[in-house]
Amino acid sequence: MTIPAHSKYLIIGAGIHGLSTAYHLALELKASGKGSGKDILVIDKSGIAAGASGIACGVVRNNYFQPAMRELMAHSVSVWESDIEAYSYHPVGYMQISPESMHADVATIAAQQKDIGYESVFIEGEKDSLNYMKGLFDDWQAKGITSVLHEKRGGYANNRKSMYGLAKKAEAEGVKIQSGVAVTGFMSDSASGAITAVETSQGTIKCDYVVVAVGPWAKTVWDMLELPKTISIKGADGNMHENINMWIYWSLQEGTLGVDPDYLKTNDGKLPPVLHVDSDAPLYSDVDGSLITDEMWGIYYKPDFNFGGVQGGAAPDPIETDPDDVAVDPYGPDSPDYVMGDEFAHMWCSALAHCQKRFEGKIGMYKREASGGIGAFTPDSFPVFDVFRENCYFIADSNHGYKMLGVGKLVAGEIAGNTSRLLEPFRFSRYIEGKLHPVSSSPFPWS
Ligand SMILES: Cc1cc2nc3c(=O)[nH]c(=O)nc-3n(C[C@H](O)[C@H](O)[C@H](O)COP(=O)(O)OP(=O)(O)OC[C@H]3O[C@@H](n4cnc5c(N)ncnc54)[C@H](O)[C@@H]3O)c2cc1C
Repeated sequence: MTIPAHSKYLIIGAGIHGLSTAYHLALELKASGKGSGKDILVIDKSGIAAGASGIACGVVRNNYFQPAMRELMAHSVSVWESDIEAYSYHPVGYMQISPESMHADVATIAAQQKDIGYESVFIEGEKDSLNYMKGLFDDWQAKGITSVLHEKRGGYANNRKSMYGLAKKAEAEGVKIQSGVAVTGFMSDSASGAITAVETSQGTIKCDYVVVAVGPWAKTVWDMLELPKTISIKGADGNMHENINMWIYWSLQEGTLGVDPDYLKTNDGKLPPVLHVDSDAPLYSDVDGSLITDEMWGIYYKPDFNFGGVQGGAAPDPIETDPDDVAVDPYGPDSPDYVMGDEFAHMWCSALAHCQKRFEGKIGMYKREASGGIGAFTPDSFPVFDVFRENCYFIADSNHGYKMLGVGKLVAGEIAGNTSRLLEPFRFSRYIEGKLHPVSSSPFPWS
């Protein structure tokens, strides 16, 4: 394989962020007359969609407790809507269905969605919530639900198809994508520290600007760039917390119930919104009636023809292993350590049956195939979008990011010189300055 000796813009990673940045940067360069997609090379150690973007459930939503996340997601939803076909996007909407302990948090989300003009319906109270849900599904039976936020925009996209659609758009603008090129190190200017070249498995590529978009491999490349392994964080109490690991890993739990996707339609025969249910009602086994948990739990699900059934997941598990010892490769379903087993299937199928009668007794149809994958999370579980070493843009989405198609557009704008107000709350300096995002009552680290 021949690789170019030089590329003006070198992007590492052909997932959602690398490809979106490449496509939008090509448009920026063309519009400003400063170049074109021909100035951009995307390299990937495996290939397009080989990472988290290729296995993601594909849910696209606005529902976040943090105002900065919500504004960023509203921007990304608009980008998804800009080319539904190429992005293989299904704008079916999204529902956050919650217990009383989350009522106040979700009420603020609903109020702020109104403020930013993001269309949603907010139902409050146990009786009205049940009626609303029964209006959609006559077999709805989840207990203890006291609010329903129904986002009319959002939905989901087909993971690999959307990546190939995005790659095609980038290539049509002249961007080159090379698979099988693994970055192994960086060369830099001894005085400024700026990156002058990238060392790869296929040789050295000189470059003027680097974008790192490597998803779950963020820690590996962060370490190659000699960025800090531990950081100091100013907490909400004003105290400094020292020696906090910059990266930790969580294992994402997802699977598919192998029923006909049409099995989950609304009462009027339409494809439903993506459903996300959090609950503090005791969860009992749909197999033998034993108690699975009396603590807060959460699941999400949707009918999905791409996965061939009703697909979804539950709250992720933290990986307790020292981050230096976590093996990211082989990734996703190929991992010997981080794929879903019987425990997940039992919990998730029982939770489906807790929510809707049609899922009772269906655990036997759970697809016994490898699923799930790991994500690299920052100390506060929110993204870092920032420039390091003068000319290296690091896109670390902390596993929020399949839905963040618009981040690449904003990053491309910043590379072209236009600072983005939407990206400002995600700078690395927020940790030492104590400019942290508010924390929600959700059982998920990404809400
Ligand atoms: C099971 C699962 C389900 C998820 N579901 C959702 C969801 O429903 N909605 C949502 O918004 N988010 C979801 N996420 C999170 C989302 O998938 C990720 O945040 C997002 O895809 C990350 O995109 P990325 O472009 O940064 O990285 P990736 O898509 O992982 O791409 C990184 C690429 O970098 C390449 N690479 C790595 N190291 C090197 C190197 N040294 N040299 C060259 N190339 C390299 C890899 O081969 C890979 O192709 C999910 C994640 C998982 C694991």
